Amino acid sequence: MPPANLNLPTRVDVVVVGAGAVGAAAAWYLAERKGLSVAILESRAVAAGSTSRSAAAFRQQFSSRAHVQMSLFSRRVYETFPQTFGGPPVFLQHGYLFLYEDAAAMEAARRRVEWQNAEGVADARALTPDEVDRLPGLGGAFAVRSIVGATWCPTDGFLRPTEIAAGFVDGAKRRGATLHVGAKVTGVESSGGQVRAVLVEGGHRVETKAVVLAAGWWSNFVSAASGCPIPVVAVKRYLYLTPQLESRRVSHFPLVVWNLGAYARPEGNGLMMGWDERPDRPEGSDRFPPPRQDVDRLEEAQDAVAPGYGKGIDEYGVEVLAQLAQAMPWLEDEGGVQFVAGGYYEVTPDDRAILSEDPRCKGLFHASGFSGHGIMHAPAAGKAVADLVVGATPPFPMEGFALAPLLENRERADREKMVI
Ligand SMILES: Cc1cc2nc3c(=O)[nH]c(=O)nc-3n(C[C@H](O)[C@H](O)[C@H](O)COP(=O)(O)OP(=O)(O)OC[C@H]3O[C@@H](n4cnc5c(N)ncnc54)[C@H](O)[C@@H]3O)c2cc1C
Repeated sequence: MPPANLNLPTRVDVVVVGAGAVGAAAAWYLAERKGLSVAILESRAVAAGSTSRSAAAFRQQFSSRAHVQMSLFSRRVYETFPQTFGGPPVFLQHGYLFLYEDAAAMEAARRRVEWQNAEGVADARALTPDEVDRLPGLGGAFAVRSIVGATWCPTDGFLRPTEIAAGFVDGAKRRGATLHVGAKVTGVESSGGQVRAVLVEGGHRVETKAVVLAAGWWSNFVSAASGCPIPVVAVKRYLYLTPQLESRRVSHFPLVVWNLGAYARPEGNGLMMGWDERPDRPEGSDRFPPPRQDVDRLEEAQDAVAPGYGKGIDEYGVEVLAQLAQAMPWLEDEGGVQFVAGGYYEVTPDDRAILSEDPRCKGLFHASGFSGHGIMHAPAAGKAVADLVVGATPPFPMEGFALAPLLENRERADREKMVI
């Protein structure tokens, strides 16, 4: 049951659906516009979705121009987050280290770094194994004799996603936006191909001409209920946590990726680890219309650990640990999997977000489908969608985020190859 008094406005210029990192950032940039009224409708709580279940890694080491530019934009926002929003730092720039065993993959990585440098990521560079061993505070940490090289960017790192969503929401409120927690949007009403209102559980209706749909993995359920399905599906992902280590200090470690697969980063003085060797994408999720998923079952299973994905012997957590022990052999003796956490990636057919007005419905703006990049790119996505709503030009190329090609099962421009 929705709370009795949601204090919903009867009319507002823009409704933002969802107060995860992306919706919160969109609200912040929208509320910057003088005279524009903005209401954030959130069914559960701020950061209640994938935002609070994320590894929250941040990198500029991408292969597509738009993703590099989104990272550069977001980096500036995150570096100055405490000054803008108050509170402690949300960005731990410990760096991001891709380790490679394969010479051909390393050669491709070296070329990618040169391209990234030319795109403005000034501090990304390729390293020899000896250079990896000489990274400050990391001597002896990695099995450098097993690798042919690495790429390294010291200004990458990881983020504090709950604080980010809360910071953006509070900032948007200070700029005059309103937040309505407990307001579950059941559909977007339109007529003549134009948004007219959002419908809220409990029989409420908020008149508006613009909706930013930033409901994470729930986005397709809201969109489909509005007659405009989008190819965004929920795909389960797990994170594995080692105990806090007593034998060695890892709290200063960068995010480490082994052969573009398993990854680890510090959480306190333990490691948070992830891998996607068994992606469980529903059949047909590479096409439009997307496969039907059961929202209630997904909701129930959001934090559940499916058989085989746990931390015991013969389970996936042990495989992840074994993968990472190839990069950090001491993990075999000093590590272990103490805890498993789950959540959903909100995935599109090409692992790239939809940041686009819906060609079927004027005023319906999508900001979803971040496919594992939604925390790092939230500021850029929020800015871009806010610009689209007010008819301004976003600060980076948007063709690769358009919805229209996906609806026609066509490939989008500027494809990303660095998806983890
Ligand atoms: C295990 C894991 C690891 C990840 N690692 C990374 C990483 O390293 N780096 C990175 O950048 N990203 C990562 N991600 C992805 C990232 O977490 C998501 O892309 C990001 O959180 C999406 O944010 P969002 O605001 O779009 O969606 P969400 O955080 O899911 O927020 C959506 C909000 O909408 C609300 N909502 C839903 N339906 C309705 C409705 N009908 N009415 C009103 N409100 C509604 C929900 O309650 C929720 O608060 C990871 C995700 C997982 C699960």
